[in-house]
Amino acid sequence: MSYISANEYYRSVFGQKVYRIALDAGCTCPNRDGTKGTGGCIFCSGSGSGEFAASREKSIPDQLKEAKERVARKHDSGMYIAYFQNFTNTYGDEDDLKAKYEAALSDPEVVGISIATRPDAISEKMYGILKDLSEKTKVWIELGLQTIHEETARWMRRGYELSVFTKAVERLSKISGVDVIVHVIMDLLGETKEMMLQTIDYCSALPIHGIKIANLNILRGTDLEKEYQRAPFSLMDRDEYIAFLEEAVERLRPDIVIYRLTGDGAKSALIAPLWVANKREVRNAIAAAFAGDGVVQGKTYRPKGSS
Ligand code: SF4
Repeated sequence: MSYISANEYYRSVFGQKVYRIALDAGCTCPNRDGTKGTGGCIFCSGSGSGEFAASREKSIPDQLKEAKERVARKHDSGMYIAYFQNFTNTYGDEDDLKAKYEAALSDPEVVGISIATRPDAISEKMYGILKDLSEKTKVWIELGLQTIHEETARWMRRGYELSVFTKAVERLSKISGVDVIVHVIMDLLGETKEMMLQTIDYCSALPIHGIKIANLNILRGTDLEKEYQRAPFSLMDRDEYIAFLEEAVERLRPDIVIYRLTGDGAKSALIAPLWVANKREVRNAIAAAFAGDGVVQGKTYRPKGSS
């Protein structure tokens, strides 16, 4: 089975290896600051699903510089994508955020910007900023959907309805130079295989550019961990998950770039499923199952010491 991996896509666009550098813009999240909720999504760690980004105390140029130095110690050359990962990176003072995006883009080796956010946290002013940015560089907006099923969304405390996501995708996709990457989570509590495939089919029918598919990871310190410890529930084992992925990927539109196929929680915080911790083995098993069709996940450069 063949599909476009992140690395293949980057090489086709930029002609060389591209590294994503996780940055922390110092944002919070409307699902944590009381605007939409206070506890956040049930699986979200206190770092806003950005365990690997650099310290928010440092300026964006300093975060970038440190990350680039670490890349340079291991690799000869490459270009970079500034990946604003932690929490909701379009949420906050728009002028301040714009300045941070521009600070990252002022580095001549940064060839694009990827901004992780929620579809209900993009203001009119921010849409304008994204449009302006897209006239200068490549922009990816990463939206955390996780599931199309409202019942599951309520369980995970997502805080917005599917229609909000769909409208945001449609609006963003009309901005030339902005591409949407959707994050989905499989094996959410209560979801059957059919429900998961419905989420995949729904995304595939939208004007998205890419997708990150993860299996549910239970991380230490989250409300999901408390629920799991109180009443343990079963999660797919590695082979079940890979068999599911084969079916899911087969159904995706062939032009959709696949950025990720597994969960990516910090190894040190992983409670379950433990097979996820052996990333190399999982990658190899996926590659073998997909008959060597180039299953190489897009790499986000991690600060030293993280998993
Ligand atoms: S939207 Fe993202 S940052 Fe906010 S609570 Fe959910 S997972 Fe965490």
